[in-house]
Amino acid sequence: MLHVGRSRYSRFVARCCLIATWSLAGAVHAAQSAAPAMSSSPSVTIPTPQALAAQWEQVHSKALPVAPLVQHPDVEQHLKALQARAPDLFQLEVAGHSVEGRALYHVTLGTGPRHILLWSQMHGDEPTATTALLDLFEYLRTHREEPWVSRLLSSLTLHAVPMLNPDGAERFQRRNAQGIDINRDALALQTPEARTLKSLRDKLQPSVGFNLHNQGWRHAVGDTGRPASISLLAPAFDRARSDNPGRILAKKVCAVIRDAVETLAPGQVGRYDDSFEVRAFGDNMTLWGTPTVLIETGAWLSLPPDEPLVRLNFVALATALDALASGQAEKADVARYDSIPENESSGLVHLLLKGVGMFGADGKPFTGDVGIAVSRAVRGQGKKLQLAHVGKVEELGDLRILGALETVDGKGLFVVPLTGKGAKPGDTYRLTRPAKQSLSLGQRADLMLLKPLESSDTYRIERVIRFDP
Ligand SMILES: [Zn+2]
Repeated sequence: MLHVGRSRYSRFVARCCLIATWSLAGAVHAAQSAAPAMSSSPSVTIPTPQALAAQWEQVHSKALPVAPLVQHPDVEQHLKALQARAPDLFQLEVAGHSVEGRALYHVTLGTGPRHILLWSQMHGDEPTATTALLDLFEYLRTHREEPWVSRLLSSLTLHAVPMLNPDGAERFQRRNAQGIDINRDALALQTPEARTLKSLRDKLQPSVGFNLHNQGWRHAVGDTGRPASISLLAPAFDRARSDNPGRILAKKVCAVIRDAVETLAPGQVGRYDDSFEVRAFGDNMTLWGTPTVLIETGAWLSLPPDEPLVRLNFVALATALDALASGQAEKADVARYDSIPENESSGLVHLLLKGVGMFGADGKPFTGDVGIAVSRAVRGQGKKLQLAHVGKVEELGDLRILGALETVDGKGLFVVPLTGKGAKPGDTYRLTRPAKQSLSLGQRADLMLLKPLESSDTYRIERVIRFDP
């Protein structure tokens, strides 16, 4: 509709069509909003976040590998098994195919008037929500007789595409097999994955979308030094970051999620940057009439983080969907969204060595802080995939403004690269050529913390730092 011609007239028509579509979507949205409120009953309540977190343990699939190792065949098998167990509840269709021909599954459940579209892992190395969606489906199947679940299934129709980028997931990479970032392809539509998502949106006209991602582990909640385990965003649909009724609803849904998640992870919810990205799906979905909630999953307090993060996603999604089903979302306080501290994208490291001695390339000692960041890698192929945590020396110097998941007081200690395979705490270590044992930015964080002994070049190993055994 928008490519009809080059004349001023046709551009005018195109703009009007856009506005008309938008208004129509607004009207549909208003009608859909009214439905759940009528069917809601104040006596029907969702379990508390703590209770949901405990129930998650029972529905979480033990057959699935840990979230980053979940591959397309796992998702496919899981969805088919779900549908076989409850064919009256789940509809499964192939909505499209990835570049390499993997099926993009569209799961539908519920019979309600309000349509919700959820998609996960459009970035292949951002897996947490795919597992959370599978767990949520299993929960809805096994708890369908509970009043709050039955209200959800009669008020909403859920449409989900778990793992929108299976080719990227196969390689544990952000982009698809063409090397394109699907979340920058909402307008150009050069990837089959983006075309599938866009055509689902156009066909279903969902009243709310959930765009489910992971963010890097260096994201902190403002200047608190706490990890942004969940960051939320109601994306802007223009450069002025204006509000419309849809975006306000998305903010209210974020407020609901914040209050649920913060009871389980206090101080660990951040607000994602709301700059308008003209090419991104969340921003354009909101413009097209499907206000979108972005959930970015970040670092957890300990490694490995997957189970607690999948659990948080599960609670976030269950709570948000219940609020949309009951009409509570409309009553939420936007100020609870606006007051979420903004993400600080480089505000966190995994391990911070404070005031530790180290050696320069000239062999001279100096004192400073060392910030070690950890990221994830998946190695191997097929069924022999392995997950690794990779530590790097990310920051050196005065790092008092950084938060850390673990802080070590390095006073009276030296840090040097790890040498020798069998080094362990308590061993004596002779450091004869300090110039060869300087730290450099970006190096792998296989390190030793040393305490000087009486003899000038002799040390005791206090700690061996290593993330990838
Ligand atoms: Zn992403």
